[in-house]
Amino acid sequence: MEVKVIIVQEEILGANEEQARKNQDRLDKHGILTVNVMSSPGAGKTSLILRTINRLKVKTRVAVIEGDVASRVDADKVHEQGALVVQINIPGGCHLDASMTENALNNLPLEEIDLLIIENVGNLICPAQFDLGEHRKVMLLSVPEGDDKPYKYPLMFTGANVVLINKIDLLPYLDFNTDAFTQAVSGLNPKAKIFPVSCKTGEGLEAWFSWLGDEIKQMKTATAHG
Ligand code: MG
Ligand code: ZN
Repeated sequence: MEVKVIIVQEEILGANEEQARKNQDRLDKHGILTVNVMSSPGAGKTSLILRTINRLKVKTRVAVIEGDVASRVDADKVHEQGALVVQINIPGGCHLDASMTENALNNLPLEEIDLLIIENVGNLICPAQFDLGEHRKVMLLSVPEGDDKPYKYPLMFTGANVVLINKIDLLPYLDFNTDAFTQAVSGLNPKAKIFPVSCKTGEGLEAWFSWLGDEIKQMKTATAHG
């Protein structure tokens, strides 16, 4: 499948929740585990996604929705990695919403997908407020951003099922305090799984792949019995 680029405007916010529920019903029907990956710009969302496709693609059919203000740079990388991909461009926008996600779903062969990864627009604020119909929210924080982000952007951390601490290969050069960060996240969200990783060296990523693999399995089981 060629890379499709869809240009949209942000939609009126009130309808978002309803559309998100419709998206999730549709994803459930097809047994597609869907994760919404959020972070600031440059934290490593695309690198994480490329690593994940590469690790899972033998057994798992992966598709990606790429959300960006402009360009198809990330979508092209995902396409090269062999996954299905739709790029959504939001001129002047700062988050994906449920109707943009629906638009992307209309452009994907849903019967051929096991795992859908949505790369949200790089932004720690409003992506946390807009459900897309995903099953799990994944938040990525890179260590150069500092360990105080849970205090500054609490909503992003309270809603996350998984928090990945990325770029741990840089820890020797920075003042990032992993224990303080982990305590801050757990204080806001005791259930969040926290995985320290490096998408550059691969360190720690097996824990993430294993969590994701279990979630995909559970989704398949639920669909088979539903
Ligand atoms: Mg990216
Ligand atoms: Zn926004």
